[in-house]
Amino acid sequence: MSFPQAFVDSLGAVPGLSEPQELLKSLDDDSPISIRVNPSKHRHKLSHLSPVTWSNHGYYLPERPSFIADPLFHACVYYVQEPSSMVIGKVIGSLLTEYYVAESVRVLDLCAAPGGKSTDIISNLRERDLLVSNEVVKSRSHILKENVTKWGYANHLVSNNDPKDFKRLPGYFDIVVIDAPCSGEGMFRKDRRARAEWSPDHVKLCSSRQKRIVYDAWKSIKEGGFLIYATCTFNTSENEQILSFLLKEFEAVKVELSASTEESQNGIYRFFPHVRQGEGFSYFIIQKQSASGSVNLPRMKTTKVDDLPVEIGVEGRVVKENDRFIFYTHDQDSELLSKQLRMIKKGLSLGVMKKNRWIPDPETSFSVAIKNFLPELELDPAQALRFLRCETFDLFCEERGYHLIKFEGHGLGYINHLGNRFNNYYPSNWRIRTQQSLNRTALF
Ligand code: SAM
Repeated sequence: MSFPQAFVDSLGAVPGLSEPQELLKSLDDDSPISIRVNPSKHRHKLSHLSPVTWSNHGYYLPERPSFIADPLFHACVYYVQEPSSMVIGKVIGSLLTEYYVAESVRVLDLCAAPGGKSTDIISNLRERDLLVSNEVVKSRSHILKENVTKWGYANHLVSNNDPKDFKRLPGYFDIVVIDAPCSGEGMFRKDRRARAEWSPDHVKLCSSRQKRIVYDAWKSIKEGGFLIYATCTFNTSENEQILSFLLKEFEAVKVELSASTEESQNGIYRFFPHVRQGEGFSYFIIQKQSASGSVNLPRMKTTKVDDLPVEIGVEGRVVKENDRFIFYTHDQDSELLSKQLRMIKKGLSLGVMKKNRWIPDPETSFSVAIKNFLPELELDPAQALRFLRCETFDLFCEERGYHLIKFEGHGLGYINHLGNRFNNYYPSNWRIRTQQSLNRTALF
């Protein structure tokens, strides 16, 4: 498939691109297949796979398996992600070691759905840090919430707001990540639609939308805090122009991390697909040099919660809201954010106590913070897929009541065993919908 001539011409102006023909050739190759492992769920190095060298947890796969047929994919033991963009997790890790060794940080991922960068960012944060993942498009915010919930970190919240709403949180975040909606030149081989939709006018439109997004987000960054801006496109209108706009409008300086393995062109890092095994990706980091106000955290009433059977392995507080027990790692932040934003995940919902019986929330089965106390049932691959389709099937089980369902040791949800049958409590909006038969290839 050919490329729009205006796109070919625009490559001449891309800093650091000395072989545009090589780039164009590589855009007709197959995309590499890669996954990023959840370090809280899978702790072993995958020595049979080649690592993505600029990521702490990424690996290339020799071929594309059917991910949907793998229960470990549904358990979020790994995430399927394009390799170049995995650099953002590493950038966050480097910022923490270079600037925030002793402090905790609040991070915002402003354009977060479906959650590739967010799940990488949280894996590189520490227990004391907080990540808010936001998505403006409501339908996309649901898949973001599903991925965040299954990835399993209690210090990870989700909101569904327009970037301008974050002006209500002046100076609140230490780091804001903007993975901006863009013209997607770096996706030309993976997503043929991106080629068809590309035009100089579309690039212009993306660039002005990006300026609006960074402008709206700026106020929420603390003095001395960082903005990481990324696109999966090469052109200067959506990268250099956004950087110049920010430096002109606000007091800020470009940042180059000493741990970085890439070289920047005037502050902008680019991943070209003919140079690195991945799709196209660009990013820059700037540090804010001025203050734009601050917000006070609310005081919290401390209420004692009795009767909670769940044991939690990380610091935080349990609050009973109506009948439901919710766990907060950052209760004051959650309270503040709930007042200012449309939070669709403000804490970890543990479950409810009904007639002296504990009914666990499905999200706890994925959580890396919860110590399970219920009986467990390990399923084989065929059973696990039926469970994930929200079906019921024959299961040998002597004990009645709630059981944690596991696959290869990883939580997938709960069933309630009634004696002669069971109720499947896998959330129906997360179920596998395809009717096709699925064949699993085990990745590890
Ligand atoms: N960070 C995501 C990941 O790694 O999975 C990918 C984000 S994608 C490049 C850009 C996101 O920005 C999309 O989810 C899109 O819905 C959202 N978006 C679109 N228009 C927007 C706007 N005007 N303001 C903020 N976000 C927007």
